Amino acid sequence: MSVNIGRILGIPIRIHWTLWLVFVLIAWSLATPGGYLSLTYPGLDSTTYWSIGIVSALLLFVSVLLHELSHSYIAKKNGLPIARITLFFFGGVSEMTEEPKDAGLEVLMAAAGPLTSFAIAGVMGTLWLLFMLVSAPVAILAILGYGALINAVLGVFNLIPAFPLDGGRVLRGSLWKRSRNLLGATGSATRVSEGLSTLMIGVGLLLVVFTGNIVNGLWILFLGWFIRSGAETSLKQTRMTDILSRVSVSDIMTKQLLTVSPDITVQALVTDYFLTHPHGGYPVVQNDKVVGLVTMDSVRTIPGDKRDLELVSQAMVPYEKTITVTPTVSAADALKRMAQKGVGRVLVMDQDKLLGIVSRGDIMRTLKTRQELGL
Ligand SMILES: [Zn+2]
Repeated sequence: MSVNIGRILGIPIRIHWTLWLVFVLIAWSLATPGGYLSLTYPGLDSTTYWSIGIVSALLLFVSVLLHELSHSYIAKKNGLPIARITLFFFGGVSEMTEEPKDAGLEVLMAAAGPLTSFAIAGVMGTLWLLFMLVSAPVAILAILGYGALINAVLGVFNLIPAFPLDGGRVLRGSLWKRSRNLLGATGSATRVSEGLSTLMIGVGLLLVVFTGNIVNGLWILFLGWFIRSGAETSLKQTRMTDILSRVSVSDIMTKQLLTVSPDITVQALVTDYFLTHPHGGYPVVQNDKVVGLVTMDSVRTIPGDKRDLELVSQAMVPYEKTITVTPTVSAADALKRMAQKGVGRVLVMDQDKLLGIVSRGDIMRTLKTRQELGL
C-alpha cells in the first residue's frame, strides 16, 4: 500500500498509493485542454501546460510533506517519538507511538501543520505578486499562483474540526484543556466529526444524484467516509488507553513462571518448552538471576540444522536488551513500550527480582474481557 522514499529529521517517509493517484489526477486536471491552466492562462501550447501541471503536482507533494514535517518537528522537540510519516491524498499522517501528554502540546502540534501551510501560501502569494509586477513568464506565475492556492486549501481543509484532521485534534485539545478530561473531550470531538461526516456524505450523494456533479460529489463523499473512519479509530484508541491505564502489569502478569537455563540447546527449548507449553517467551535464569529472554523470534534466528548445537545463551535476548517494567506500571504504558521497541513481551521486575512476564496477548485479553464486561 505504501512505499518508503527515505528519511527526513530521522523519520522514515512513506508514500501511500492514493498520493500517486492524486498526483496524476492533479497534473491531468491542470494540464488537460479545458482544465484549470488553459482557462486561467489561455494561449499556451500543450507541452507548457503539461510541464506546469507536473511541476505543480510535485509542488503539492512537497507542500504536504512540509506540512507533515512541521507536526513531526514539534512532536520530536517535545520528546514525542514519530514512527513514520505516511503521505496520502491531501495530507499525511505522522504516526506517533505516543499521544501528547498535555492539552497544550496537542493543540500546538496539531496547529503547526495548517500554520505552516498558510505560511507557505503567504510566501508564494507574495512572490506571485512581485513576479506579476515585473511581468515574469506565465509559467512561473502559474506555478506560484497554484502553489499559493494549494497551500491555502491544505491549511483550510486540515482545520475542519473533525478527526483525523488537524482541526479535530485542535478541537479535542481545546476541550481537553478546558475540561481536563481526555476521554470526555475525545467523545465530544468524535461526535462533531461524525456529524460533519454524515453531512459530507449526504451533500456528496446529493451532488452525485441530483446535480450530476460526479467528481466533486465523489470527493466529498470519500472525505466524509474518511473522516468517519478516522473518528471511530480515534475513539476506540482512547477507550483502549483509558481501560488499560487503570490496570497495572502486576494484575495481569504471568506469575508462575517457567524459566529456562541458558545451557540447554535451542532444540531442547523447542521440544521441552515451545511445543509443550502455551507461552511465546521464557525468562532465561541462571543461579536465580535473570540473564535474558527467549522468544519464538530468538529461535527463528537459528537455522533448523543448527538448533542441536547452539545454546539458549546464544539465541536469547540478553538481559540488558530486554524491556523491564516495575509492577505498578500500567498496562497502557507497557503496551506503549512494546510498540516502541517492536517486541511482544516485557519482564516485570522488582529491583533484581523477577516477578513475572506480560505479553501483548495478555494485555489484549484483559482489554477484551474488560470491554465485554463494560468495565
Ligand atoms: Zn496536518
